[in-house]
Amino acid sequence: MLQRKQFSWAKKISAYVNEGQCQKGLTLIHYLQKSGAEITEFHLSAVLKACGRLQAIDEGKVAHAMILKRGYHGDVVLMTSLVDMYSKCSTIDSARRVYYDTPKRDVIATNAMITGLCLCGQTTEAIQLFDGMPSRVVGSWNSLISGLARNSHGGEAMQFFKKMRSVGEKEDFTTLVSVLSVCADLAQLINGRQVHGLVIKHGFEFYVPVGNALVDVYAKSGCMDDACRCFDNMPSKNIVSWTTLIMGYGKHGLGSEALRAFDQMKLMGFVPNKITLLGTLYACTHAGLMQEGWDIFNSMVHTYSITPMMEHYTCMVDLLSRAGRLEETCWFIERMPVEPDVRLWTAFLSSCCFHKNVDLARSVGEKLMELRPQESGPYVLLSNFYGLIGDWEGVAQVRRLMLDRGVRKEKACTWIEINGVVHAFESGDRSHPSYKEIYNYLEDLIKRMKSIGYVAKTGLVVQNVEEHVKEEILLGHSEKLAIGLGLISTPPGTKIVIIKNLRVCMDCHDATRFISEIEGREIVARDASRFHQFKGGECSCGNHW
Ligand code: ZN
Ligand code: ZN
Repeated sequence: MLQRKQFSWAKKISAYVNEGQCQKGLTLIHYLQKSGAEITEFHLSAVLKACGRLQAIDEGKVAHAMILKRGYHGDVVLMTSLVDMYSKCSTIDSARRVYYDTPKRDVIATNAMITGLCLCGQTTEAIQLFDGMPSRVVGSWNSLISGLARNSHGGEAMQFFKKMRSVGEKEDFTTLVSVLSVCADLAQLINGRQVHGLVIKHGFEFYVPVGNALVDVYAKSGCMDDACRCFDNMPSKNIVSWTTLIMGYGKHGLGSEALRAFDQMKLMGFVPNKITLLGTLYACTHAGLMQEGWDIFNSMVHTYSITPMMEHYTCMVDLLSRAGRLEETCWFIERMPVEPDVRLWTAFLSSCCFHKNVDLARSVGEKLMELRPQESGPYVLLSNFYGLIGDWEGVAQVRRLMLDRGVRKEKACTWIEINGVVHAFESGDRSHPSYKEIYNYLEDLIKRMKSIGYVAKTGLVVQNVEEHVKEEILLGHSEKLAIGLGLISTPPGTKIVIIKNLRVCMDCHDATRFISEIEGREIVARDASRFHQFKGGECSCGNHW
């Protein structure tokens, strides 16, 4: 074996790395080294790739030392691999040093540095580096756009995409996948459709990652029909495609559709992974499919030999407690092999509040506030609950705790896209150019809603102010402002889609139900937990989320 040519060894190592068997690649290089074989730049390049993927910084440093010892430091390809390795290991300072010490940096090296900076969250520096490039290739744009998208700077990513097109640079399918992921995260339906147009123009719709991204965009923008159409049109699918579809159904509360897709997927010979199972379980939870949920949960261990993660347990707790089986939920939690986390307790707390079990809500709430004393979510949930049942002593207690511990409420924000422009609202926001029209319209609308039974949940307002001021505060909630803008700036009958960063508030949920009835509009609200589809005075979540 050792007689083999150097080149074929290098080929073998990179084949392992490219297949994702990085550890095998590294073992092989150790073996070569021990046997006294010569290590060339080809070996080292493959080793660096493996170290980056495994985040094996120590091994990476050894490779770096070997590069210097062998005098390869002028080799721009190896230097680029080093930049890539160091940034994947989250040591951006080392990556930066290598990059700026390389004498003849080419465009590929700079692209790697931009990707690395974004990977480590240094997007401002990445943009500066990009702006300073004397010439760019499509890869440079891709590095920046996908990097910004990964750092939740979707707006900026879109701006660079527009700029890219305006300077005449041709996008490739990597660009489009990144841009589609931005559209999905921001639920920018109109932009998503435009990018879909580009996908078709280039003939990229048959690439699996592109198809997956399209399904995701439509599902996350509240258009499950379009998501299904894209899915059906994909000539070949992978497990990610199916998982994306099932997740989409789940978020829309379409439990039986999700289960049907799950069965169909199995018939096609795909084996679900833990994410697929989570999506299916989630769908059961949000559709209240008790038996089906249990079946999926049990099949995880028995059929697929997958150890449930915290998310799977949380789904089960959610499923049981939503159905009002609170004692059974306690039983389930006690028997879990892992310590419950904040999300799990929060799901349980929300059900205890929904079923108005004061004692359980209090004890779970107290546990949560001890577990994560700085997180505002549990305080808000519990104080809202006390407010709604009129337990003002309870509200005051929670408020005091928050003050003592210096806990700040996370700012609520809601977005709406109108004609391709995204408008963002915070609570009580008066910064929008049309704010006067929005408030006037909402005030009149609330009057009409009251005549058919809407009652403002003023118990949710913790400030000690008069009743009418509480109502004004509720009216200024970001969800209502976004919907208000949607109502005054789109033709009657148009569907309204909004996105909120936190869970939708109880008063806004109630109000939106009434608005959907009185205005005859379909309103889709995506919040931190799911989709709410309001139509004719009802919501797809059954008023429990
Ligand atoms: Zn609200
Ligand atoms: Zn709902």
